[in-house]
Amino acid sequence: MSALVLVIEDEPKIAALLRDYLVAAGYRVGLRDTGAGAIDWVHEQAADALLLDLMLPGTDGLAICRGVRARSDLPILMITARVEEIDRLLGLELGADDYICKPFSPREVVARVRAVLRRASMRADPQPDALELDDERFEARVRGCRLDLTPVELRLLRKLSRQPGRVHSRAQLIDAAYEDHRVVSERTVDSHIKNLRRKLAEVGVDPIASVYGVGYRYEPDLPDDASTRST
Ligand code: CA
Repeated sequence: MSALVLVIEDEPKIAALLRDYLVAAGYRVGLRDTGAGAIDWVHEQAADALLLDLMLPGTDGLAICRGVRARSDLPILMITARVEEIDRLLGLELGADDYICKPFSPREVVARVRAVLRRASMRADPQPDALELDDERFEARVRGCRLDLTPVELRLLRKLSRQPGRVHSRAQLIDAAYEDHRVVSERTVDSHIKNLRRKLAEVGVDPIASVYGVGYRYEPDLPDDASTRST
């Protein structure tokens, strides 16, 4: 059976457009035009992904995202009206899998849905690149090859790899990597990530993708990822 994609969107034209494109792409679609009761509704469906508008009557998208995430690992794509909003949403650590800004191209949305579904299926098989983290010995290995990581690099890798496919902002990564919460610039994170990627490349993998303007995500073995925001 084809994947079921739920769409919670109160603007009828946008909802119909999304439904038509998703159906044309071979998905089954469930539509809802209000946030009221949406969390229970989502849990009653055996859905594979959720497209969730931020501004909704009843319960807003933030509360729905939190409510759904508290009970399941369902891939969630948040739809926002403003690109500036995405940074704020990331800071809230909602656990959404991707963010789409209006106005959007429906083709782009379908590509993003396909990408989150692919990443979700990898989550079921969590270590396709055979990454092993040994917190006690402060070691990381890929396919048995030991990586020579600094403690900060190890913590960044642990944070990213525990939630494959999920976007992490630089601020979230700073929190994860520095236990003493000292002030670290976002540029410093970029340079640690750069070193980490170089060390991973030495053992033949490149699982960390930058998400333009936002942060990073861990995507093991995704050569054909259609997401245009990954570089
Ligand atoms: Ca809306």
